[in-house]
Amino acid sequence: MSGTDTVVQHVRVVVVGSGFGGLGAAVRLRQEGVTDFLVLERAGSVGGTWRDNSYPGCACDVPSHLYSFSFAPNPDWPRTFSGQPEIRAYLERIADRFQLRPHLRFDHEVQGARWDAAASRWELSTSQGVYTADVMVAACGPLSDPSVPDLPGLADFPGKVFHSARWDHDYDLAGKRVAVVGTGASAIQIVPMIQPKVERLVLLQRTPPWIMPRMDRDITSAERRLYRRVPAAQRALRAALWSIRESQVGAFVKRPGMLKAAQALAKRNIDKHIKDPALRARLTPDYSFGCKRVLLSNTYYPALAQPNVDLVASGLKEVRGSTVVAADGTEHEVDAIIFGTGFHVTDMPIGSRITGAAGRTLGEEWKDGMAALRGSTVSGFPNLLFVIGPNTGLGNSSMVLMIESQLNYLADYLRRLDASGAAALDATPEAQRRWNAEVQRRMARTVWNNGGCRSWYLDGNGNNTVLWPGTTAHFRRETRSVDLAEYDLVQTPATAPVTV
Ligand SMILES: Cc1cc2nc3c(=O)[nH]c(=O)nc-3n(C[C@H](O)[C@H](O)[C@H](O)COP(=O)(O)OP(=O)(O)OC[C@H]3O[C@@H](n4cnc5c(N)ncnc54)[C@H](O)[C@@H]3O)c2cc1C
Repeated sequence: MSGTDTVVQHVRVVVVGSGFGGLGAAVRLRQEGVTDFLVLERAGSVGGTWRDNSYPGCACDVPSHLYSFSFAPNPDWPRTFSGQPEIRAYLERIADRFQLRPHLRFDHEVQGARWDAAASRWELSTSQGVYTADVMVAACGPLSDPSVPDLPGLADFPGKVFHSARWDHDYDLAGKRVAVVGTGASAIQIVPMIQPKVERLVLLQRTPPWIMPRMDRDITSAERRLYRRVPAAQRALRAALWSIRESQVGAFVKRPGMLKAAQALAKRNIDKHIKDPALRARLTPDYSFGCKRVLLSNTYYPALAQPNVDLVASGLKEVRGSTVVAADGTEHEVDAIIFGTGFHVTDMPIGSRITGAAGRTLGEEWKDGMAALRGSTVSGFPNLLFVIGPNTGLGNSSMVLMIESQLNYLADYLRRLDASGAAALDATPEAQRRWNAEVQRRMARTVWNNGGCRSWYLDGNGNNTVLWPGTTAHFRRETRSVDLAEYDLVQTPATAPVTV
């Protein structure tokens, strides 16, 4: 901020982002009696992931009755795994029902945030001016900035190029030759939807995923009526869905050998749909089940068996004119390239935009890997709280559970900050080190670290700074309250006496 910039508004709490995390934070703040807050969102509406990912077939892969807020059950989910339009509409309703609209500021991209030690507050430069806040909640999303590989020749490709999270609905894929790059969660939802339309589909696969059948079905009107009339029935269903997933965690975290039976089922899933032995071989992973995110689909393998699909078992190496060239030398001429290549996860862009007390950015702080205390606060960055921070991701259950745990932590943080009389709390380096040493100790036995794959959970140094190596109940306990012994109290520096 230059000396001439005027502050548009000062608030007690500023929340960055309006996905599940930011909206959840806003609801929680109001419930805690905090009304002096704003939610800054770079886009023009709420929804985060569920606003940005509108590709054909986009849906959740955790059952809707669990992938929703505990405080706002939706008896009207249309399917067990509801689609993006329904999830987005649910989040719009949250904004209305909990009276969040007056707090929302759309088209406000946070371009920089700096801890002003003299004033003990955060100063945020946005695309619409400067805001200041005592406390900043970063709910910018773990999967919100698309990652597109920097490939030779891509800039000169004469056809259409877009990322799965920025789908171009004006571009008609009918009759086109289309390359889909990547075989992650988004790509396997896209492929079966576009395969019947396109003339030719070239799928560039670096590593095949393990895929299990998707137990998806319509939720009947009788079931919905039941959930509306007897909320306890819906709560019981949610509890059952949660328990099943909690019971699976041990296998991923402590006893990967237990995943062998699931791997055999996934193998059978390939054999059932893919009759061509060569294609089957290319679709069979050579790493342990669970190492990468396990995907769910009933339609992906049947789509790949269709005659207009070429599965190239090699990553995209370069683009030459309108030809995509794979690392194994295979060439295909195409009209469009769709990147299903994921997001900036371990190098989140907001990192380079947040500057802490010592004048260093989070990105610099995290150059050897992301780390926080209880996934929420970072030493040297007073009064900054993450929703979905380092090591809070899940491989098999609903992120909303983790978000709600972090909101408990946020609420207690604000209470304790008020009670302490300090201007800010700053996580001690020792507490943060201890927390992360324990997280990484538990990580060492997981299938994510030992399953023989290279996934987006691992950073450039091979460390898993993304996932939580435990149950969601364990994380809930760890974030129930703030332990002030883990924090230094920051007082506002006394104003220098004025001499005349
Ligand atoms: C296709 C897809 C499917 C998924 N399915 C599931 C699922 O089934 N189950 C599950 O548990 N998880 C799923 N996830 C993970 C999902 O990201 C989380 O569950 C959850 O939606 C994250 O919410 P969030 O609010 O943290 O982030 P987001 O929803 O990403 O929201 C972040 C918001 O911050 C805004 N923002 C970012 N930077 C700035 C800035 N500098 N200034 C202002 N605003 C900014 C963004 O515009 C966005 O609106 C899925 C993710 C994707 C991409």
